[in-house]
Amino acid sequence: MPGKKELAYQRLEALFQSNPSDPNIVLWLAFTTPDLQDAESALPYIISIDPNNSNLPKAKEWLASEKRKRLEQTPTNRLAQLGTSPPMPYHYNNLPVCRKCGKPSGVFGALVFNRLTGRCVNCEVANKQALERFKATFLNITQDNDLPEEKWNRLAASAKADSLNRAETLNFIQDDAVRLLERIVSFANTGDILNEAIDSQLQKLSTVLAIPDNRIQPIINQVRRLRTLSDIRQGKFTTLDSDAFLESGELCYMDMGAKYLKTTARQSYKVHGRFLATNKKLRFLSSTEGGVEIPWTSIMRVSLTNDGVLLELSRKAGNGYYDVVDPWIAEATITTLVRMNNRHIFAQNSSDATRHIPQNVKIAVWQRDQGKCVQCGAKDYLEYDHIIPFSLGGASTVQNVQVLCRKCNLAKSNKI
Ligand SMILES: [Zn+2]
Ligand SMILES: [Zn+2]
Repeated sequence: MPGKKELAYQRLEALFQSNPSDPNIVLWLAFTTPDLQDAESALPYIISIDPNNSNLPKAKEWLASEKRKRLEQTPTNRLAQLGTSPPMPYHYNNLPVCRKCGKPSGVFGALVFNRLTGRCVNCEVANKQALERFKATFLNITQDNDLPEEKWNRLAASAKADSLNRAETLNFIQDDAVRLLERIVSFANTGDILNEAIDSQLQKLSTVLAIPDNRIQPIINQVRRLRTLSDIRQGKFTTLDSDAFLESGELCYMDMGAKYLKTTARQSYKVHGRFLATNKKLRFLSSTEGGVEIPWTSIMRVSLTNDGVLLELSRKAGNGYYDVVDPWIAEATITTLVRMNNRHIFAQNSSDATRHIPQNVKIAVWQRDQGKCVQCGAKDYLEYDHIIPFSLGGASTVQNVQVLCRKCNLAKSNKI
């Protein structure tokens, strides 16, 4: 017949199965278990589920005095004192052993044992701390939007000393690594020109930091897009085959779906058609209302809108809003062709000024503005903007430079 204490233990065990996170049940299990090692492994478990449990100090005291008592009584524990382990109780056979410190988990330790990593609670905590240290150092050494080789090697060495697992560690900082690459791309796109070294830099970093393909791909796409825009802004157009009738010597650079917002005295409606930009002129072709030819010299201003572009012309026909498939490409193409055909009138772009902002100013401004447009919060197509324009003597200082998205930047330069 089991004694009272054994009965209580059995009842508690059943209770524990249905309430594994009740610290009081675990405490009572520890008090009633016949196996002292079992009781000992209950403490870290209670700490993990309820670190501020008020009975913890009492339990620790009780455990220490029990240990002393039993050491005096039982012959097996005298053997243990001599260096021979007592035989493990039956339920110890299938309990996990920590891969890091080599200690068996104990019954309760097994409940919080991380079977994914093969580490006990204590090693798990130590590992987490080492990971956090790694992350803090990583953030610190990449502040200047680069990963200096010497600093990285030192960090890798300290990770080895902490016996951190490489894959686990790089996974732990993956979000920060991706943000670093995004920042590097934004920095590479100074003014309208994309730094050519960006591809090799991205490839190197994504290998070192083991960034998975699905996370590097959007960044590569972004670079491709910025490069396309950069090429357009430098006048490097790709000539397209067009099915439209072109004049002799006319080269087509853009053929894009567009909707013109036509406004009459009584109503306004959208005319479906397409933009055809060539070296000679801009055409808006519509199958329903015919076409409009817009000479480059008649375009006074081009602005990005939410869905398209606004063309301000020196004449009425074709003046106004167009929804286009890709406003960024349309704006860049039209702006550049206007500039190439009409240098004197069109407003100078800010890219020259942007190239003169020192790197340390850019970094400080980027951090202050948290990597987004200070006006609309956009995180794409960001640029550095002189609050007082460079052309009006505005300085390239942290106080006079801000982060704006291209849209807000264009809207601003149009006002000045
Ligand atoms: Zn361990
Ligand atoms: Zn903006």
